Amino acid sequence: MASTPRWAGFFISLEGIDGAGKSTQGAALAGELSRAGHDVVALRPNDTQLGDLLRGYLLQQHQVPVEPWTEALLFTAGRVQLLRERVLPALKTGAVVIADRYADSTIAYQGGGRGLPVAMLRQLHDEACKGLWPDLTFLFELPRRVAESRQRSQQLPLDRFETAADGFHLDVQAAFEALAVAEPERIVRVDASRSPSAVSEAIYETVKIRLASRRGAA
Ligand code: ADP
Ligand code: MG
Repeated sequence: MASTPRWAGFFISLEGIDGAGKSTQGAALAGELSRAGHDVVALRPNDTQLGDLLRGYLLQQHQVPVEPWTEALLFTAGRVQLLRERVLPALKTGAVVIADRYADSTIAYQGGGRGLPVAMLRQLHDEACKGLWPDLTFLFELPRRVAESRQRSQQLPLDRFETAADGFHLDVQAAFEALAVAEPERIVRVDASRSPSAVSEAIYETVKIRLASRRGAA
């Protein structure tokens, strides 16, 4: 039996390493849900003025080494603003919010990747973002080398995380895996190595089921 909804809308996040297909699938899911008559708000972490400024610095500058806690605090700061300015108002009106990355990314990247204590990062999120987690999270799973080759074929300049050593990305992936094991109800794993349409179909099927069970609980 599903618990009583915390908001009128439905909050979905997309997680996984760069090149996994999150942006592609976020757009596809937004299209499917809109066609089915839902109000959809698709958000990236950059979708507030502060978030854009902070991420611009954290991702794009390559000169100054950035401390792990600086990364954790600034990504979290951007998320607090995103939640307050964009996510919560949309959920209140009953929209389906699709967030391209959310708090699991900070746990995976700054916890798994940079080695900060995961329990502290979780506490930081719980305090700063009132412990608000998505109703449903998709974890895009695929080998790092496949994600890397997809990225390379885009021929875009790589950011500070994309250029990190292989070991970093493997640690990030392991941390994502651990999160999925710990929260199997919220975090649904997706085999992201398949074709875009196969991945979209799997995601949309799960979303339809969860939305239906949400309606049953409301
Ligand atoms: P992310 O947002 O996770 O970094 P993107 O959605 O930007 O990933 O996808 C990275 C690249 O891989 C893009 O060029 C995209 O067109 C391509 N891509 C996305 N999904 C697939 C897929 N299932 N199969 C092959 N290529 C894909
Ligand atoms: Mg993306």
